[in-house]
Amino acid sequence: MRKPLVAGNWKMNGSSAHNNALLDGILSQVDTFPSIDVALFPPAVYLQQVQQRLEGSVIEWGTQNVSSYPKGPFTGEISASMLNDFNCNYVLIGHSERRCLYDEVDLDLSVLDRIIAEKYAMAVDKGVTPIICIGETPAEHEANKTEEIIIGHLDTIIKHQGIKPLSQTVLAYEPVWAIGTGLSATPEWAQEVHQLMRERIASHDKHIAENIRILYGGSVKGNNARPLFSMPDVDGGLIGGASLSADEFVTICQAAEQQV
Ligand code: PEP
Repeated sequence: MRKPLVAGNWKMNGSSAHNNALLDGILSQVDTFPSIDVALFPPAVYLQQVQQRLEGSVIEWGTQNVSSYPKGPFTGEISASMLNDFNCNYVLIGHSERRCLYDEVDLDLSVLDRIIAEKYAMAVDKGVTPIICIGETPAEHEANKTEEIIIGHLDTIIKHQGIKPLSQTVLAYEPVWAIGTGLSATPEWAQEVHQLMRERIASHDKHIAENIRILYGGSVKGNNARPLFSMPDVDGGLIGGASLSADEFVTICQAAEQQV
């Protein structure tokens, strides 16, 4: 049985005051989702604040990105060992907003996936669980290329790092057309893609495939989380916009709790 995980990606939102109110709101209802894992991903400047509020609670935390280098002249970047200093349990890797807005210039997909695979190795080496995001763009979706794109991402990651680190990894299927658009994938669509991912991993290692958590992300809200999470290969969600409201986020956590 895979334990559901609900991950809240705050993106570049928040302030000290807003974060405190949000954390208070979630922590006050934490007893309503005792059987699942929950993690929050604030902007890095608020990591210490979030750590201080969450330490000793059942909620974990992480960052939205990590460098593929251990240290050095990489202005604005954060290393995996810095994540250890703040007891981060997780790190998001390859979020589509980073792929599209920052990394893509002059890079083809295989180079991009190699960088993501290097960040992934860096996180695993430091004992921080990576949540690797993959998903097709609107153009790829319309061209019926979902399967090709998803398999391509997975194969590149496995080619560069081997199958074994996937035993310490979470995957997130995040169709880019569903992120922040209000257009969530249907539960059936999500299930089909998650099953495809699990089968591809099973072709390398059945045990890892059976145990790896695959989250769905893309316009998950309080009112659509339950049918999505009820799909057999959907093991929780990566939540953007709805993670900025305590009540909405708690409703999503409760939907995951109902699957346990
Ligand atoms: C995300 O940021 O990973 C995400 C899924 O965003 P949203 O829930 O707002 O679509």
